[in-house]
Amino acid sequence: MEKIKTVDAVTTDIPLFEPRLGGKEWEYVKECLDTGWLSSAGEYVERFERSVADYIQCRYAVACVNGTAALHTALLVAGIKSEDEVIIPALTFVATGNAVRYTGACPVFVDVDCDIWQIDIQKVKDFLNKECYQNNGRLINRRTKRIVRAIIPVHLLGHPADMDPILELAKRFGLMVIEDAAAAIGAKYKNRFVGHLGDIGCFSFNGNKIITSGGGGMLMTNNQQWADQARYLITQAKDDALEHIHHNIGYNYRLTNIQAAVGVAQLQQLENFIKIKQHIFEQYNKLFQDIPEIILPKVMPWAQPNYWLYTILIDSQRYGISSRELLNFLKKSHIQTRPLWHPLHTLIPFQDCYAYYVEVAEELYRKALSLPSSVGLDEENLRRVAQAIIECRRV
Ligand SMILES: *Cc1c(COP(=O)(O)O)cnc(C)c1O
Repeated sequence: MEKIKTVDAVTTDIPLFEPRLGGKEWEYVKECLDTGWLSSAGEYVERFERSVADYIQCRYAVACVNGTAALHTALLVAGIKSEDEVIIPALTFVATGNAVRYTGACPVFVDVDCDIWQIDIQKVKDFLNKECYQNNGRLINRRTKRIVRAIIPVHLLGHPADMDPILELAKRFGLMVIEDAAAAIGAKYKNRFVGHLGDIGCFSFNGNKIITSGGGGMLMTNNQQWADQARYLITQAKDDALEHIHHNIGYNYRLTNIQAAVGVAQLQQLENFIKIKQHIFEQYNKLFQDIPEIILPKVMPWAQPNYWLYTILIDSQRYGISSRELLNFLKKSHIQTRPLWHPLHTLIPFQDCYAYYVEVAEELYRKALSLPSSVGLDEENLRRVAQAIIECRRV
């Protein structure tokens, strides 16, 4: 370990994100190997589910092979069918849209807002009021004639979406609410953890998330029937396990015991990670505070983010170069950065889907740059990143 650290910092890339394995990961994984419990049976899977459920104060948790599988399962449990529509933000990781597509349904893309970059409540409201009508208790999209059944608010970059108005609209229009909290475990909305504020919530424990199980996901709900249905679907839909009877198409989406063991150890460190990442966030903000050409991420008064990925906006007019030119410059300086996601409605697999006034997502895609945000990012490297960005200005 020490050897790696003595490598000249200037020739080593500062990564955008790397996991921190500082707890009992070794101990728990060794226990799996020693006892032979490697696969999807074993006590760590249950322990991981119980720990996450207790932590966010949700009744039921179902561990899945990854966050995308958890989202897909959530949509199936929510009764989303082929040719239905599901409202999602245009700016999100492609997995949100893909999960909708796996069910045969179509995403409806709604813009994000320019303050916190989360799904734009006003535009959701306008879409529901102006573009949809009720028919026999069903909500129909006027343009596509498809049934709108659900909304997926994404807690983008670890900052919560404004859930209360979303839940209110969902109630009024009869929509299921599935939170894509993939990157947001530990984040709070009005002092409550995200992931169980709607009907079903999903987390990811991919290697680039705030805590990881190598790969993994979890479906959260307070509804026992939905939890049972999810568990049934992700274990090949066994109606009679002995006689191999299956009344439905099931999936092999179970998490393995080894992965769960890593997850349990990571969860024990989450609160500490959030503290460190909040510090990183505040340090960056402080170093950039006198540079008006760099637009800083906002935190709403009702929000306690998990500060997953620190992201700034570069307005090329004012800053002098574009976010992509800056990215390339930083790459040469061995600093890894990343743009936000390509607005999904412009991607080939989603071109036949409906998009409602998407402007801000496109602007954010041009301007945004995520900066190194690992728990292990030290003060010296953080300053190096900030300094390089400040020096790039052509003002
Ligand atoms: C990471 C992520 C996912 C997918 O999770 P995986 O575990 O990688 O499948 C889905 N949505 C969002 C917003 C994410 O950040």
